[in-house]
Amino acid sequence: MNSAQKLGIGMTSQRTRERLAARLGDAGIANVHVLNVIRQLPRHRFVDEALASRAYEDTALPIGYGQTISQPFVVARMTELLLAGGFPKRVLEIGTGSGYQAAVLAALAERVHTIERIRELHDRSRRLFRELGFENIRQRFGDGFQGWASAGPFDAIVLTAAPSEVPAVLLDQLADGGRLLAPIGDAESQALRLYIREGKEIQTQVVESVFFVPMLEGVE
Ligand code: SAH
Repeated sequence: MNSAQKLGIGMTSQRTRERLAARLGDAGIANVHVLNVIRQLPRHRFVDEALASRAYEDTALPIGYGQTISQPFVVARMTELLLAGGFPKRVLEIGTGSGYQAAVLAALAERVHTIERIRELHDRSRRLFRELGFENIRQRFGDGFQGWASAGPFDAIVLTAAPSEVPAVLLDQLADGGRLLAPIGDAESQALRLYIREGKEIQTQVVESVFFVPMLEGVE
């Protein structure tokens, strides 16, 4: 990567980011804090250099190992839904992947904990967070089905890979009033579901239909 690319000049300039944020606003993202983060965060650094010129299109892109960086609209929408409960202090993300969703959240929350089951993706995002100067992201290489009990309870939990049903372990790690967002389903059909803890009760609702890679057990 040359210095112009590092500074975000050219295909990856501030102007292309502004355009993406404007497009997301038109598409219905209303939270200005979320749009501001999208405007500032260099998404091109979270994808392979060969795909950098496409980083500000509103599409998911491959990040290797059969995984994808989520579509910006989906990242913005999920972040906005988590923020509807106020700025979260502690956040847990399952599926670090490229690290982009974790970085968006880290700009808006006190601390983000993120778990990834593919070693290379875990390592790559760790290097990137360091290069970009994120100091409030804690990472674990492991199986997200276990959650991260010692760091909880969390005000917000987000799954960026789809299980067939919501893991009870993760609902247990949700703070009172906390929000958990998860795509639930299989390769044919998935619904983004929001779960809100009210004491011992969990309220749930379907937000919209989505498509995420499957949440898999164990590590690679
Ligand atoms: N949030 C990511 C999305 C990456 S795709 C981003 O912004 O780029 C989903 C990721 O979830 C993949 O990297 C996949 O390896 C990971 N994943 C799937 N099942 C998992 C599990 N049980 N625990 C942790 N990570 C998991």
